[in-house]
Amino acid sequence: MADNKSFDVIIVGGSYAGFSVAMSLGRALRNVLIIDSGLPCNRQTPHSHNFITQDEEKPSAIAEKAKKQVLKYDTVKFLTDLAVSRTKTDKGFEISTQSGKIFSAKKLVFATGLKDIMPNIKGFSECWGITVLHCPYCHGYEVKNQKTEILVSGYAAFHLAQLIRNWKNDLTIFTNGKSELTQEQTDEIKRHNISIVEKEITSLKHKDGVVEEIIFSDNSTFQLKVIYSRTPFEQHCKIPELLGCELTEQGLIKVDAFQKTTVDNIFACGDNTNPLRAVSYAISTGNITEVLLNNAMIEEEFLRWQ
Ligand SMILES: Cc1cc2nc3c(=O)[nH]c(=O)nc-3n(C[C@H](O)[C@H](O)[C@H](O)COP(=O)(O)OP(=O)(O)OC[C@H]3O[C@@H](n4cnc5c(N)ncnc54)[C@H](O)[C@@H]3O)c2cc1C
Repeated sequence: MADNKSFDVIIVGGSYAGFSVAMSLGRALRNVLIIDSGLPCNRQTPHSHNFITQDEEKPSAIAEKAKKQVLKYDTVKFLTDLAVSRTKTDKGFEISTQSGKIFSAKKLVFATGLKDIMPNIKGFSECWGITVLHCPYCHGYEVKNQKTEILVSGYAAFHLAQLIRNWKNDLTIFTNGKSELTQEQTDEIKRHNISIVEKEITSLKHKDGVVEEIIFSDNSTFQLKVIYSRTPFEQHCKIPELLGCELTEQGLIKVDAFQKTTVDNIFACGDNTNPLRAVSYAISTGNITEVLLNNAMIEEEFLRWQ
């Protein structure tokens, strides 16, 4: 880490989206600081899929490779730390970190991702991303021959049932208590021979994240290998909201087509702005961010020049 405390751009979040912005900005000769706390949302997943050139790679290996390539540019600095607070100043922004450091920049990028909120089922979080899956596009092909069920209620269950049938048509939905599916959704699900089980779940029996059984509150069990589920999420970092950035109804940071937030000089990219969560998407929005951000800086400097 350099001693410099003042940067053109601070990027909070140094995972796929953050590194993508940093590479483009670094190559555009901007002095950039990345602050990252090291908790990407896919950290438990053994293999990442559906991104050409990196299919089946370990998520951390993709990020490590990105970091190595980005830090080759002497314009980019990296700090492992948690950004905890912010101040708006005359010249831009100040970001303070958990370890007590303060940095300033003209512009901010939040590439901070989302935090998935685990349900109160013992064993669920340990299996998350390993055998409890959120996305068949990311992991469906690999588990297509394994006994697979759905654990969620309401519209998410209806949507997942439709989706997962593309990979597996022998399915049961476990709603963990009274079903919140509408009558119409229930009828449609039953028409496709998908059963609905409303028993309450206490835990998932597993070995190192490999699920073996659902254990219900009446002590009965159900054996299976794979579960699809959908969890609620929240913004991993609250600083954009504290700076006045608006969120969408879904809880994502509101951005325009160039990833600019509703607050001047603040951009956001990756998962925190879009429900289509994928490594490739996070990287592409990082690239888009850089284009507008750097153009804005070029125009500002051009106008000021005399
Ligand atoms: C279980 C699981 C499996 C997945 N599998 C796949 C797959 O196979 N293929 C695929 O394409 N996609 C997959 N995804 C989606 C993919 O992981 C995400 O789309 C991608 O990680 C988003 O990248 P990001 O950079 O936006 O956010 P993240 O990768 O989540 O990174 C955000 C970073 O910001 C940091 N951060 C947050 N707040 C702060 C702060 N205040 N200060 C400093 N740092 C901060 C975090 O520590 C983290 O390092 C999966 C997702 C999950 C949850």
